[in-house]
Amino acid sequence: MKKIVMKNPVVEMDGDEMTRVLWRQIKEILIEPFVELNTEYYDLGLKCRDATDDAVTHAAAEAIKEHKVGVKCATITPNAERVKEYGLKKMWKSPNGTIRAELDGTVFREPVTVEGIKPIIAGWKEPITIARHAYGDIYKASEFKIGEGESVVVTVGGESRAAADFKGGGVLSVMHNLDRSIEKFAENCFNYALEKKKDLWFGTKDTISKIYDGRFKDIFNRLYLEKYKERFGNAGIIYFYGLIDDVVARVMRSGGGFIWACKNYDGDVMSDMVSTVFGSLAMMTSVLVSEHGFEYEAAHGTVTRHYYKYLKGEKTSTNPVATVFAWTGALKKRGDLDGNAELSAFAANTERAVLETIEGGVMTNDLLPLFRKDGITPRGVGGEELLKAAADKLESFIRLV
Ligand code: NAP
Ligand code: MG
Repeated sequence: MKKIVMKNPVVEMDGDEMTRVLWRQIKEILIEPFVELNTEYYDLGLKCRDATDDAVTHAAAEAIKEHKVGVKCATITPNAERVKEYGLKKMWKSPNGTIRAELDGTVFREPVTVEGIKPIIAGWKEPITIARHAYGDIYKASEFKIGEGESVVVTVGGESRAAADFKGGGVLSVMHNLDRSIEKFAENCFNYALEKKKDLWFGTKDTISKIYDGRFKDIFNRLYLEKYKERFGNAGIIYFYGLIDDVVARVMRSGGGFIWACKNYDGDVMSDMVSTVFGSLAMMTSVLVSEHGFEYEAAHGTVTRHYYKYLKGEKTSTNPVATVFAWTGALKKRGDLDGNAELSAFAANTERAVLETIEGGVMTNDLLPLFRKDGITPRGVGGEELLKAAADKLESFIRLV
């Protein structure tokens, strides 16, 4: 079989633990037999980040700006335990946080749906896409412990105000956001909604946070009226703004099928809820869209519990779907940007092969209790076995062409 050639590289960011194992398997079993893979490789595994004083993460972000398309494996964000476990020089920041801050884009997360797996919320007929603002708020905050008797006075533009009365000591977080970043977030959301022809919903707590959250509300509203209202009307879609708690209640009662724009923290939390409703964290794709480029990843972490079992030689069943879709997302985008239709078609066929394998009853254990399809008794397999079954299907698709 002649392999598909890539004109330009994809920035490949390797990661940690179980997903690092899956990463290699996905490449070897599902991609490299069919594609002359052209990547610029960065090892974001914790050991390499520590050895390079995290320079490798910054270099990867720069590379995405240069080549426009990246694919990232899940990585450990170290805490105190990890510092001990890996003997780290320091508690390095989240690589995702670093890359998001450098690219300043919006993260769109959408569940992968398969026939046979119904959402836990029966009313949700179609997937809900979460659009997460990927800059600022608590993710770029300076945090302080305030001791007994200490005080904090904030001075802005000549006006000084005591931050709070810290009697008995407490904590302080200084977070910020930028008009420019909120504007880009809004534009990314409006454009994505137009591209996908789906309604856009947005919620904040502007009744309590009149200045901070109020700014988000106002910027969205201004840009909508100035640039998007007419185009939304022509496309037959709506922009809906509400208070975040009201929006959450409406989302639960909805039929799905819209894009839900969320501030950074809301998007972090709500994307886990949405993916769980549609099946599993491992069935959620994630793409960071920015003016500098596109970065594809899985929404879940490094699946530590499975990795420790794997190290002991025990059988594991880790779902590779989200990581496969990160690769196919990146290859599809590379194909589209380069005018390489063969590569884009390969990516689409790979997704189809994986989904049809699951719909045919072969799946990882996390999906077994969710799967109901007449005439099919589902069989639980390991991640590697699922990839091999999908590769067989993929080969048959390609031979048919
Ligand atoms: P996690 O790796 O997402 O795993 C949490 C649990 O969800 C797993 O124990 C497993 O449940 C289930 N799960 C997640 N992905 C799965 C998959 N592909 N197949 C089957 N089950 C899956 O989250 P975590 O345990 O909180 O975090 C582990 C590490 O990942 C941490 O060091 C964290 O810093 C990092 N992390 C990285 C990213 C990222 O790079 N994007 C995101 C989140 C977390 P069962 O154990 O019940 O089977
Ligand atoms: Mg989260």
